[in-house]
Amino acid sequence: MDTLRAARYPFLDESRAFADKHSADIVSLIMSPAYAEARKRGMNRVLESIRRSEVSYVPLSFEHERLMEVMSYPYARMLVSCVDDRFLTKRYALAESVRMSILLVDERSDTVVSIAKELRTDAVLRDGMLMMHFTDYLKLSSRIKSIEWKLVNSELFGGNVFLSKERFCRALQNAMQDKIESELPLPVPNDIRALVAKDVKHIELMLNEMKTKFGDSVGGDVMVTEFPPCIRALLAGTQNGMNLPHSGRFALVSFLHALGMDSEQIMELFSKSPDFDASKSAYQVRHITGEGSGTEYTPPECSTMKSYGICFEPDDLCGNEKVVHPLIYYRIKTRTGRRDAPEEKKE
Ligand code: SF4
Repeated sequence: MDTLRAARYPFLDESRAFADKHSADIVSLIMSPAYAEARKRGMNRVLESIRRSEVSYVPLSFEHERLMEVMSYPYARMLVSCVDDRFLTKRYALAESVRMSILLVDERSDTVVSIAKELRTDAVLRDGMLMMHFTDYLKLSSRIKSIEWKLVNSELFGGNVFLSKERFCRALQNAMQDKIESELPLPVPNDIRALVAKDVKHIELMLNEMKTKFGDSVGGDVMVTEFPPCIRALLAGTQNGMNLPHSGRFALVSFLHALGMDSEQIMELFSKSPDFDASKSAYQVRHITGEGSGTEYTPPECSTMKSYGICFEPDDLCGNEKVVHPLIYYRIKTRTGRRDAPEEKKE
């Protein structure tokens, strides 16, 4: 048994066998002082997912550390299940899957293939090259919008797609995320819930604090509650980890910028998204806000939003003939808009 691998990837069958070997079960995990370290690490797995969308790596030199790491995983899943909040579940799934893909890149290719198989992904290693069956590739890459991930831009052999190790592991990140999201919440009996209530309460407080922080105000005195329906829908999509179309992301960033938010504030807002990609988001936000290029783009007017298909659920105020631009909607609602609706420049 490879106990280091069992601890690095605690979702494996091997990890369960490692726990069984030490007679580690759920009751002892929750009640025994011997597993206090595992409970603390499990709690941190969840808190780190809220704070930074990534579970950190801890030293795993000794058998005891590896056992604590393996057992921290079911504890974290139990806590997430008790909170039973969709946003937390998605964010936790992302944090665990990001951790996995970062670790996997440094593994040997045969290890990567065996872990892919545990994630029910059809993978093969041929002449040192990693390949994934095209049906799995399509399923796992559909949320990754970069052009180089399109199947037509990939090299195919016998129904399999050749992938670099980095891209293979990135695709597996999505498989892991899907796996966790489909498994949680787990049913947790009431007596177990009572025993973990203190940790659950702590997580709920952290989660609510974070939601409150960006729920009503997204920067300065910008009020989300007064946003037009289109922008609220785009913002909600971002926060729920949806991949917005380019036109939606452009409309959202340029709208927030027009209200006075700078790139850093907008990035802070996007960083709350469960699938935040810092380098990609930074490039897009800075491009739209004009940092670097000097070309400051402005948000599209309502007719353009409609033609893009992103005028979501217009309300009564949208029916007002004066509302020809989302910024006008916001200004009417707040009566404190800081800029006039500017003329739209071409993207
Ligand atoms: S009418 Fe304009 S402000 Fe209202 S939802 Fe559509 S695009 Fe947004």
